[in-house]
This record gives sequence, C-alpha cells and structure tokens, in this order.
Amino acid sequence: MNDIAGNIQHLRQDMNAALLKAGRAGFNVQLIAVSKTKSVEAVREAIAAGQKIFGENRVQEAIPKFTELRRHASDLELHLIGPLQTNKVQEAVAHFDVIQTLDRPKLAMALSKELTKASRKPRLYIEINIGHEPQKAGIFPEDLGEFLEFCRDKAGLTPEGLMCIPPHHVDPTPFFKTMKDLKDQFQLKHLSMGMSADYATAIACGATEIRVGSAIFGERDKTAS
Ligand SMILES: *Cc1c(COP(=O)(O)O)cnc(C)c1O
Repeated sequence: MNDIAGNIQHLRQDMNAALLKAGRAGFNVQLIAVSKTKSVEAVREAIAAGQKIFGENRVQEAIPKFTELRRHASDLELHLIGPLQTNKVQEAVAHFDVIQTLDRPKLAMALSKELTKASRKPRLYIEINIGHEPQKAGIFPEDLGEFLEFCRDKAGLTPEGLMCIPPHHVDPTPFFKTMKDLKDQFQLKHLSMGMSADYATAIACGATEIRVGSAIFGERDKTAS
C-alpha cells in the first residue's frame, strides 16, 4: 500500500527545503503528479491530499481516466508529457491544459491548424533533447532559436516553456543549467525538469515545475510504460 497523501506531503516539504537551500525561498515551484499507469482511485487519493496538477504521457490512457476524474473535480490541470502524434492532436487539444512535448515542425503545424478552430488553447512547451540522445525526442538546444521562430512566424504559436528529460545515470546538473540558460535567453516563463530521482537538483538549477511519479504513487509496472 502506498501512502500517497504522505508522499505528497513529504515531497512538498522536500521541495521547500530545496528552494531554501538554493536561495529561491518563496518561489512557487509547481508539482506535477505523474499518474501514468496508475488507477483512477490512486489519482483520487492524490486529489484528496490537495493535488490538482497531473501529468500523463499517453493521450489514449489519459482521456477516459481524466474524463471520469473531472466529473467530481472540475479544477484539475492536465499536462501531456509524452510524445504526441499528429493524428492525436485534436484529442490532445480538447483534453490537456498544457502540452509539454512540442518537438518538431510537423507537430507545430498540426497544432496550429487545430488551435484555429478549437475552443480550448492549451499552453505549449518545447521539448529539448538536452543530451543529444538519438533515441530521444526533442529539439537540440542549438536549434531552439530557429524552432521558436518557426513556431511564431510560420505556425502562429506562442510556446511558453521548455521541458527536458536529461540522460540517465549521469549527473543531470550541467543539463539542467543549460536548460535554465535557454529559458532565460529566450525569455520563456516555464521550465519543466526534474523527476523522482533528481527533482531537488532541478529545483536548485531553476525548475519552475517538476514532474514526479514514482515518489508519489510508488513504482510502476515496468512492462506497462
Ligand atoms: C514517467 C515520467 C515522469 C515521472 O517519472 P518518475 O521517475 O516516476 O518520477 C516524468 N516525466 C516524464 C516525461 C515521464 O515520462
């Protein structure tokens, strides 16, 4: 049995401690509870503990789950943190409040087309492939300026933030610092970085939001996602 409420409380204390240590006391870092593969009941426990912001990485999994959850909690904020296929753009725009994984021109154009007719306008973040890893999605840091220009001039989009998943098994600090520099250079508002294993480091480096799954809900079934 996972003590979801206890985990959230502990996490919030830890986040405050990390902010204090980094000289960022009083700054409000948002906690995105990553509920992928977890049940509606588990998410309800988090909601009962005061959590309102959630992250999911598959459109098809998130829609039925959050349609159900929103029946009793209309003020939830849902972030898409996994890859978005262009044929899922309409559904993603209809259900998510933030799409954190804008990672290619083709997707920018598909979002552009959908947003001209949609009644909802999710916030958009650009995913950065900060470690230049071939198996990962995202814009290379050196290409961000050009991609932002494309989004603004060709697609009419206004990305508001950046997100990244740094390489596994190495110190994420230099990657997080580069992300903070990019956020400042391009004057973006949101910086989504840090997961269960490294959120304190991400906060020290300037994250405005962290995405935490297993430290709240427990380990995931590795075969599921
Ligand atoms: C699953 C996932 C997380 C949360 O990972 P944990 O290590 O369980 O905290 C954060 N971000 C993304 C993009 C994810 O896919």
